[in-house]
Amino acid sequence: MSASEAVTDALRDLHARFAGVREGERADYIPELARSDADDFGLALVSMDGHRYSAGAAGTPFTLQSVSKPFVYALALSSLGLDEVGRWVGAEPSGEAFNAISLEPRTGRPANAMVNAGAIVTTALVPDRPDAPAFTRVLTALSRFAGRKLDVDEEVYGSEAATGDRNRALAYLIRSTGTLPVDPVAAVDTYFRQCAVRVTAVDLAVMAATLAHGGVNPVTGEAVVSADVAAQVLAVMATCGMYNSSGDWLLRVGLPAKSGVSGGLIAAGPARFGLAAYSPLLDAAGTSVRGRAALGALSERLGLHLMRNPALPGSTVTLATTADVLPSAPSGRRERALRERVGVVAAQGALDFTAAERVLFALDESGPGQVGSVVLDLREVTGADSVALALLHAGLARLARDGRRAAVVDPGNRLGPPDLVRERTGQDLPRYGSREEAVERCAQAMAGPV
Ligand code: GLN
Repeated sequence: MSASEAVTDALRDLHARFAGVREGERADYIPELARSDADDFGLALVSMDGHRYSAGAAGTPFTLQSVSKPFVYALALSSLGLDEVGRWVGAEPSGEAFNAISLEPRTGRPANAMVNAGAIVTTALVPDRPDAPAFTRVLTALSRFAGRKLDVDEEVYGSEAATGDRNRALAYLIRSTGTLPVDPVAAVDTYFRQCAVRVTAVDLAVMAATLAHGGVNPVTGEAVVSADVAAQVLAVMATCGMYNSSGDWLLRVGLPAKSGVSGGLIAAGPARFGLAAYSPLLDAAGTSVRGRAALGALSERLGLHLMRNPALPGSTVTLATTADVLPSAPSGRRERALRERVGVVAAQGALDFTAAERVLFALDESGPGQVGSVVLDLREVTGADSVALALLHAGLARLARDGRRAAVVDPGNRLGPPDLVRERTGQDLPRYGSREEAVERCAQAMAGPV
């Protein structure tokens, strides 16, 4: 556990850097929130393997507030699908504060599920079931995202219920347009309860990591929502999660995120990390000041900005050459001449579309013109997704049509079952267990006459 302490050290550094920031105010329109400790400051990071790191007050409980919104949206999307949910709540940034009357003219549909109006509708879309009242369903979903059984802070719930007239007014306004499918009083009550669910910064980082990990909680391994739903939620977080500072956040930090008035803040680096911060002092947009600074700095430090996603050079194709220059090439002139016409390409790692394109390009570059043959060595390939496979098969089919013979070194069957490869490439691609054997056979075939 000591090498990975370096990750914790990175969090501790950021914690130390921003702990002294004193700007901002605690939310006081929910009286109970004004009693939180302004000095509390916690940071947490969870990897896609479920490794948890934290610094500061990362185990201190606080209430979810608006950070609940993306997760209840996920529940609604899972139950009803995007089209049905989209009939009731939009997916456009409102450019307004969280509690604004963001309702589409004519239809009364809230702009998105991240502002209060949209979140109240989203919650209303999760109806009671005979076996589970709506709030039980919400709490169960939130708990699965966090990977542990969460509960409600009754004081905070009572405090908001006693003072939440603006949210009630929003619910009535929405119903007055005929949009809200259920009773506004019940919907707002469930919404207040979901906002009062108690979590820690570590819980939040696990929840964010679950979205970043295609809906599978990386700590418990449970598939909480589908990969499609996780992507839909992250998309709406990216455009709407930070209210009227969403554009600026995406520009500077580049991550889907969600803030809440208790001082919780999450950000998700898809396929990378779930990040969370807790610090109650808020800026004018209702976002934790230290949280915003720390997660912004963390994104920069870890290179997480979504729009800046550099491909690592040399990460897929490790060799693209002709067989005569391999150290194992025999020294005879005739053998060398034959081997000059045998291309050799070796690839490594996990292949997606991007990586498969590199492999195909390397196949083209590896031999002189359109003649000869080529050996594709896939021994170091760890896997290929269906899109990569389809592209590789199509590329090998084209190669064959151009008259270039291919052979693969593929003891692990990374190219897929031989039947499928035959069907897709239109040939019986010779497969070998070692590169040397494949090169030798190709060189002999060059010697012809066949
Ligand atoms: N419970 C709060 C409200 O509805 C949540 C708002 C927020 O966290 N931005 O007003």
